Amino acid sequence: MIVGIPKEIKNNESRVGMTPAGVFELTKRNHSVFVQSTAGEGSGFFDKDYQEVGATVLETIEEVYSKSEMIVKVKEPIASEYPLIKENQIVFTYFHFASSEPLTLAMIKSKAICIAYETVEDNDGTLPLLTPMSEVAGRMAIQQGAKYLEKPIKGRGILLGGVPGVKPGKVLILGAGVVGVQAAKMAAGLGAHVTIMDINMKRLRYVNDVLPNHVTTAFSSEYSIRQLIKTHDLIVGGVLVKGGKAPKLITKDMLKEMRPGTVIVDVAVDQGGCFETTKATTHEDPTYIIDDVVHYCVANMPGAVPYTSTMALTNVTLPFVLNLANKGWEKACEEDQNLSKGLSIVKGDVVYKEINEAFNL
Ligand code: NAD
Repeated sequence: MIVGIPKEIKNNESRVGMTPAGVFELTKRNHSVFVQSTAGEGSGFFDKDYQEVGATVLETIEEVYSKSEMIVKVKEPIASEYPLIKENQIVFTYFHFASSEPLTLAMIKSKAICIAYETVEDNDGTLPLLTPMSEVAGRMAIQQGAKYLEKPIKGRGILLGGVPGVKPGKVLILGAGVVGVQAAKMAAGLGAHVTIMDINMKRLRYVNDVLPNHVTTAFSSEYSIRQLIKTHDLIVGGVLVKGGKAPKLITKDMLKEMRPGTVIVDVAVDQGGCFETTKATTHEDPTYIIDDVVHYCVANMPGAVPYTSTMALTNVTLPFVLNLANKGWEKACEEDQNLSKGLSIVKGDVVYKEINEAFNL
C-alpha cells in the first residue's frame, strides 16, 4: 500500500503521524511511504531520518494526499485539507467528529474511509489510541494549571504544593479515567490536596487503591460538584462519554461560586468540553477569563510536547497501521473487531451511531 504522512497544519501542532521507526516497519514489508518535507522536524525527526528508512520525501501536502492510498496523521483534517481527501482514501487519525459538524459533513462528501483513533477499542472496552495522549494531557493539566495559578497570570497566587507551615493548594478532578488518574498522580506528587470524582464506582475504587491517601474520591453529582468548587483552586475536567459530547458538569452560574483566580483546565474540550463556558484555545493564546475564573482549554495539549507525544502515539498506532497496509481496510476491520470500532464514515455513510446522534443526521 502507499502510505502518506502529511505535515500537521493545525495551530502549534508539531507532532507527526509516524516516526522513522514506524516507517521502517512499513518499508520492510514493501509498502511505499511518502512523507511531507519537514513533517517530523517539530518532533525531532528530519527528512534524512525518513529517507534512510526508505521513505520518499515530497515537498507539498497536495502531493502527499494525491499519491497516497492511506493517510496517517495526528489531528483531524482542517478546512484547507478537506478538498485534498479523495474518494476511497483511508484516513487514519484523531477525528473527534462529535465536536465538529463541518468536519463531519466534509468527510461524508469526500467518500473517504475515515477511521478514528479515538474510538478504536481494546477487548476490555478501553481506548488504546486515546490512552497515551490522555496520559500526556492529564499530566500536563497539572503542570499548566499550576502555572496559571500564579498571580502575574491572574491566578489565585497559590503554590500548589504549599510550603512547610502553609497548606497546599486543592485540586478537583472531574473524571477518574486516564486523564483524571494521571492528573491526580501529578498533583499528589506535588503535594497538593486532591479530590477526584466519577460516576463509575469501579474507577473510584481503583483510584483509592493505587493513589496516596491525600487523594480523596467523591461520587460525581451536580450537588457535590457545587459544594466542592467553592474551596478548590484548580479544577480539571477529564470526563468522557465515548464518541459523544462531554456532559456540562460546570455551568456558567457555578463560576460565581468559585473564588477569584480559580483555574479551570478543560481537557475534555476536544469532545465539546465539560464546562459550559469552555471554548477551544490554542497554545499561542491558551487562556481567557470569565467571572474572574481562568479558563485553559487547549484542544491539542500533547502538541506542546511533541517529542514525547509522537513516540507515545506511534507506539500504539503502528500495529493497526501495519494491519491496514497489509490487508486493506475491509479485511483488516473484518478480522479485527477492535479496529472496526474506529470506522466512523465510510464512503459517504456515517457508520458510528454517536456521530449520527450528535447532528441528527
Ligand atoms: P476515560 O474514558 O479514560 O475517562 C473518562 C471518565 O469520565 C470515565 O471514568 C467516566 O466514568 C467519567 N465520567 C463520565 N461521565 C462523568 C460524570 N458525569 N462525572 C464524572 N465523571 C464522569 O477518558 P480519558 O482518556 O481520561 O479522556 C478524557 C477526555 O480528555 C476526553 O474527552 C478526551 O478526548 C480528552 N483528551 C483531551 C486532550 C487535549 O489535548 N485536550 C488530550 C487527550 C484526551
